[in-house]
Amino acid sequence: RASSISFLGLGRMGSEMAFNLFSKRHALANSSTFVVCDAVPEAARAFVANFQNHFPGSQLSIVSTPEEAVLASQTIVTMLPSSPQVRSVYSGDSGVLSALQALPRAQAEETLCIDSTTLDIDVARQVSAHVVGTGAQMVDAPVSGGTETRCLRFCRYLNVLLLRGAWAGVTGAKVGSLAFLVGGTDTAFELAKPFIADMGRRAVHCGPAGSGLVAKICNNLMLGVQQVVTSEAMLLGQRLGVRADVLADVIGSATALHDKAPPSERDFEGGFATALMVKLLMGRKLWQDMGLAFKSANLVGTALPLGTAAKRIYEDVIESSPELARKDFSNASCIMSAEKPS
Ligand code: NAD
Repeated sequence: RASSISFLGLGRMGSEMAFNLFSKRHALANSSTFVVCDAVPEAARAFVANFQNHFPGSQLSIVSTPEEAVLASQTIVTMLPSSPQVRSVYSGDSGVLSALQALPRAQAEETLCIDSTTLDIDVARQVSAHVVGTGAQMVDAPVSGGTETRCLRFCRYLNVLLLRGAWAGVTGAKVGSLAFLVGGTDTAFELAKPFIADMGRRAVHCGPAGSGLVAKICNNLMLGVQQVVTSEAMLLGQRLGVRADVLADVIGSATALHDKAPPSERDFEGGFATALMVKLLMGRKLWQDMGLAFKSANLVGTALPLGTAAKRIYEDVIESSPELARKDFSNASCIMSAEKPS
């Protein structure tokens, strides 16, 4: 079991991740053995054929249940669609848990489970508690793109974790540039790190079990909102007469995402005044920055739903105190943190 790794879930992401992991381990020690399992047997067969084509003589086998995978290997990596599949693979009949319970305690304690699925945080915490109850180690380690962007640095100003980049998703899995957002104990994180290093570029320890998923869903929230507001800006710009490729170049080179020292570290002093984001300072009701965009959007009949929501937040900050209005616009996060989610 010690030199064997099992990978369960050989879909779009999993097949690329398993390929990277197995190929690096195979190069390290010819004696390593690999086990794969997928609900679709053809996916497992295709993976094995492809891997053995690249690495003739490598030792790969296919099993049909998670239980067999755990009995064969000390390290288990899962990359499944979502919560129901994770529940079933770990807690279902012939699942990971039944194998861990069947193993002598000492062998269960040597087992490490790395679940990279994006799933419900509560389900992940429940599964982790059950696995840890057998003496085994487990981390939740969902993945995101791996390249640090200006956007990431900007989001650090807001104390928000954003990990995305040019090589996200399947391409990121293939080229090994994924970032793994890891939840689990310090011990589990240290044990998982070398395996993660074979599949990605970064491992971020986000906190105890479930924390990797917390970071992941925050990242996805930002990604989702950012995508819509990018579309708003692209549409407005084109309606105001600028070509899409020019706008994409401007947005891509991040004039919209400033690139300075984090204002939060100097209490949001300096930087770009919040008041400037909407209206000019000194009591004059002149449109400025976002305000100018709204004025122009009115002229060309373009709704800016996310822009409107953001403008309302800046207006709240400005109205709440002249002091906050003077500070960097990233202090909007301070006001928002006092609000309850709807
Ligand atoms: P996928 O549907 O391509 O792959 C899932 C694989 O799991 C399939 O091969 C499926 O047959 C297998 N499977 C399902 N139930 C199983 C079971 N009980 N036992 C064994 N195998 C089982 O999905 P994907 O795109 O590879 O995504 C996997 C996870 O990664 C998801 O949680 C997704 O949200 C996340 N993710 C995906 C991307 C992306 O770009 N595709 C990017 C980041 C994160």
